[in-house]
Amino acid sequence: MEMFEILQQRLGAGHVLLREPMKNHTTFKVGGPADIFAIPRNVDELTFAIQACRNADFPYFVLGNGSNLLVRDGGIRGVVISTAALCEICLPDDHKIYAQAGAMMPDVSKFALAHGLCGLEFAEGIPGSIGGGVVMNAGAYGGEIKDVFCTAQVIDKNCRLIDIDLQSMDFAYRKSAAAAQGYIVCGVTMRLDKGSAADIAAKMADFRARRRDKQPLTMPSAGSTFKRPPGHFAGKLIMDAGLRGFAIGRAAVSEKHCGFIVNKGDAVAADILSLIDHVQSVVMEKFGVMLETEVKIVGE
Ligand SMILES: Cc1cc2nc3c(=O)[nH]c(=O)nc-3n(C[C@H](O)[C@H](O)[C@H](O)COP(=O)(O)OP(=O)(O)OC[C@H]3O[C@@H](n4cnc5c(N)ncnc54)[C@H](O)[C@@H]3O)c2cc1C
Repeated sequence: MEMFEILQQRLGAGHVLLREPMKNHTTFKVGGPADIFAIPRNVDELTFAIQACRNADFPYFVLGNGSNLLVRDGGIRGVVISTAALCEICLPDDHKIYAQAGAMMPDVSKFALAHGLCGLEFAEGIPGSIGGGVVMNAGAYGGEIKDVFCTAQVIDKNCRLIDIDLQSMDFAYRKSAAAAQGYIVCGVTMRLDKGSAADIAAKMADFRARRRDKQPLTMPSAGSTFKRPPGHFAGKLIMDAGLRGFAIGRAAVSEKHCGFIVNKGDAVAADILSLIDHVQSVVMEKFGVMLETEVKIVGE
């Protein structure tokens, strides 16, 4: 049986799509089609989809909210497995929140506020899923996922559901062991402190205002395009290199924050890739610093 039929039989019609444009599933709003796009609704279906692909040696890619992704214009061969429908959030005890992988970080952060739990204020403005947040060790304003992480329920290389603790997740700046170990994150338990709802809300409002002032939030992007190079800030290097507003095709270095590449409307991935190359070579030439992409580049 073809992979499409195998998945459709288990996940149901409407939950497995053919030639789905990835530009509809990335915050950059670019990217060609995924051959097959699967939307499992629970951990069993997610495990089934991963296992079906692995058994058939069929390529697959796990998608969170696509907020740290640049999908090339040829799209993604194989199956894209979206976690978007796995979005339950609950309170297993007074100090812990459990969220399924596809729950959005802003929602988890607001859930923490609603229960008077502090520590996740930083995550309210990060437009990714909590699963993607764990994989990327997402962070902002002095906080990161590592600080609140307790355990993650993951599918391991042998398709077993196992719990991974903080130490085994091996978090570092914008990375975790998830990619290296081939873990698919199904759910995350976070440990938080009790706090005053007014203080938590005030901190979130402050972070929100800072983002609004500094970041080009009204234009499609994938956040900071480059990692922070040791001893420097990517945005400052790009600005000092004279690249503010520099454009190739419909992709441009943001006028508001030079660390962001933005889609000015109808950009294609090729525009963004050429611009990334150009920025990297100008910054290297002027300052001898190699900017590494934080954004993950995938597809053909
Ligand atoms: C406006 C804007 C602001 C941003 N600000 C910040 C910020 O302040 N701090 C920050 O750290 N990031 C920021 N980002 C980047 C992005 O939101 C984070 O990297 C986020 O953690 C990505 O989550 P996602 O669900 O979108 O992951 P995706 O982009 O979908 O995927 C990222 C990677 O994780 C993998 N992945 C996703 N889910 C799973 C899973 N369940 N199991 C296994 N692998 C998985 C994917 O295969 C891929 O390799 C920003 C982005 C935007 C657009």
